[in-house]
Amino acid sequence: METPESPETRAARGGWYREFATRPSTPAIFQTTAFDVDGLEQLDAITTGREAGYIYTRDGNPNHEALASDVAALEGAAQGAVFSSGMGAMTATLLALLKSGDHVVAARVLYGRTAQMLNHLRASFGIEVTYVDGNDPTAFGRVVTPRTQLAIVETISNPLMEVADLPAISAGLGQVPLLVDSTFATPCLVKPMQHGAKLVFHSGSKYLNGHGDVMLGVIVGDTGLVRKIRGIGALYGVNSNPFESWLGSRGLRTLPLRMTQVCRTADALARFLTRHPSVLRVYYPGLESHPSHATALKMMPAGFGGMLAFDLRGGQPAVARLFRALGETIPFSPTLADTRTTVSYPAGTSHKFLSAEERATCGITDGLVRLSIGLEDEPTLRRELGAALDSLGTNE
Ligand SMILES: *Cc1c(COP(=O)(O)O)cnc(C)c1O
Repeated sequence: METPESPETRAARGGWYREFATRPSTPAIFQTTAFDVDGLEQLDAITTGREAGYIYTRDGNPNHEALASDVAALEGAAQGAVFSSGMGAMTATLLALLKSGDHVVAARVLYGRTAQMLNHLRASFGIEVTYVDGNDPTAFGRVVTPRTQLAIVETISNPLMEVADLPAISAGLGQVPLLVDSTFATPCLVKPMQHGAKLVFHSGSKYLNGHGDVMLGVIVGDTGLVRKIRGIGALYGVNSNPFESWLGSRGLRTLPLRMTQVCRTADALARFLTRHPSVLRVYYPGLESHPSHATALKMMPAGFGGMLAFDLRGGQPAVARLFRALGETIPFSPTLADTRTTVSYPAGTSHKFLSAEERATCGITDGLVRLSIGLEDEPTLRRELGAALDSLGTNE
């Protein structure tokens, strides 16, 4: 007679479904720490790459690979890797490519945390960093030394939406690999690999996922570089997890549709804002008045993105009133690329740690408001934004 299964054993081995003939219509989530291996022969075959397989999720998981290979394909890159956040991807990249004594050249206007990370590596690990004017494409090449191992630039900078002339920047760099943070542009608008980049970085927390509900980072690029970065990411444990990667893949399916929509709405709202008396200046690369417009026409033929900024008459007090007036319709939220339109205040969030003088040099005034355009219909957004701006009136 068979020994009845004990409750401990039944419970400990529970959760398994019966085998079935049909297939799920969407990808499964491999929410598992490890993968059971047939034996030592298979272990050897997998670790040496003779057989496809996974062993431990920190080192690799089908959900990671699905997202990484889709982003790589969209960017026209050979390989990709996913990480716990954009900053996780940046950690892995910088630790993989740099050692003490090496030199990095970076655009002066960078995502705040990226600059902070570079400054930390400079202070704690003896890595040299030179910041240059991102609008002067020859400036990068001019400061390259034999120790320069990496150049970093953003396709569209925050918050003034300056567009980098990637072919001109990469032409001046020679053998130095160019890393492009293309979070704002997405592969729908710019493919940096076609313009000389060796690596493309994305905060997957933004447009790639696009629903404001995950933290993810993605690096795609040349095989050798990405392998090295993936290995260091696994070593330092900044990998993503299966569920967030799966959510990222779900979001990615609608990326082209979302980008088409936000480009159209942002362009219309930018033009509306230029005509409003409370607005001093609008920063959108699609506007003929934007300093990067010529570069934007060359780099982004399909559209100019969903991010814009404007300088409000009346400075910080006017911004405070505008945010109150917007209330719950267009929330103040220090992120971007959600399905909802959001406003942010660069002088108080992303660029808070700069001195007032440094902010002024970057053109970040006390009246600067950043808009991340969402998927709502444009007339509604225009009405809500217009009503809030009108309510500021003339009593300043
Ligand atoms: C958000 C962002 C990052 C950092 O990504 P996280 O996912 O928030 O860690 C880097 N670069 C740009 C341009 C970003 O907008």
